[in-house]
Amino acid sequence: MGFLADSLNRIQPSATIAVSTKARALQAEGRDIISLGAGEPDFDTPENIKDAAKRAMDEGKTGYTDVDGIPELKDAIIAKFKRDNGLNYTRGQVSVGTGGKQVLYNALMATINPGDEVIIPTPCWVSYADIVQLGDGKPVFVPTTMENGFRMQPEALEAAITPNTKWFLFNSPSNPSGAAYSRTDLKKLTDVLMRHENVWVLSDDMYEHLIYDGNVFCTPAEVEPGLFDRTLTMNGLSKAYCMTGWRLGYGGGPEKLISAMRKLQSQSTSNPCSITQWAGVEALNGPQDFIAEHNKIFIERRDLVVSMLNQAKGLTCTKPEGAFYVYPSCAGAIGKTSTGGRKIETDEDFVTALLEEEGVACVHGAAFESSPAFRISYATSTEALKQACERIQRFCGGLK
Ligand code: PLP
Repeated sequence: MGFLADSLNRIQPSATIAVSTKARALQAEGRDIISLGAGEPDFDTPENIKDAAKRAMDEGKTGYTDVDGIPELKDAIIAKFKRDNGLNYTRGQVSVGTGGKQVLYNALMATINPGDEVIIPTPCWVSYADIVQLGDGKPVFVPTTMENGFRMQPEALEAAITPNTKWFLFNSPSNPSGAAYSRTDLKKLTDVLMRHENVWVLSDDMYEHLIYDGNVFCTPAEVEPGLFDRTLTMNGLSKAYCMTGWRLGYGGGPEKLISAMRKLQSQSTSNPCSITQWAGVEALNGPQDFIAEHNKIFIERRDLVVSMLNQAKGLTCTKPEGAFYVYPSCAGAIGKTSTGGRKIETDEDFVTALLEEEGVACVHGAAFESSPAFRISYATSTEALKQACERIQRFCGGLK
């Protein structure tokens, strides 16, 4: 027996974190790097939220709190679910964790037994499969296509369900594709789920507020109230509230699930940072208008990036409905050789050569279980994006 746990062999370090770390290391060596790898807004946390944190510190709100959230924050979350999603939760049905990632982790770890299957439409966020595998569950990837706007079709969901299916993991708007489901699209999926009463639904609504062009956000328990008793509606403050470093996420779901998650959290991190929780109360109860202002900027950047990438030889990029990512196909670059003499056989080769030769950091599609493609985060300055896209055009233009 080795020193390390066998379960660790089933997982990989987060590829998105790895790309950002590599980009920072190259920058530290003095290289001119434009990093489009990380999924975090370049906007600062709004002042009123920071002030609430300062107040919490000054008022000595610095001790341990209830494991899965202070009552004031749970009430703000309950009000948010009602206001934005028409969902009615009680305090016992709300769990607050250190980031959406912990809420997801708790939910999966608290429920997965060896061999349980989790259906994940791909491309998907990097951590889903690894968390499932850490729990000895089996990720069941269901590919979506660019032609279908990266949206899962009901027949594909139906075909993926087996007696071992425990969860359907849904994410709209999606990381990495930016695809968002309309109510009609989602209803087709919830109709399938209504026929399979043993399947639970984990809806990752992290990008709820980042949705554009008149598209309207919807979440499974809202579209099909019949699923309410077997759905975890997960969300967080990282993206829309520009609070990635504060670490705050939450979920609403049936009490038996929420109390199991609390039990797990009580034996790992205990409560999320008390100061962050008070900042979260202000974020959810305070003014929301900055979100629309940010979205205006995100739309401009998305349009710029999509247009410039489509002018790059060998790339095809569709215009996503939400989040702050684009997910171009680099199929046209595969099999070619870069100006620097690197053979491009996979999307990982593509992003590695792009980073080495042009100093642009992106994440390869294989990390999101969908190749050949790569993800660009456009949550960075318009000037940096323009420069990055020019470099990508030059890189692609040089492929032979
Ligand atoms: N879900 C998705 C789809 C994400 O993209 C992220 C962050 O990148 C998370 C969950 C977790 O976010 P956090 O733990 O910062 O709340």
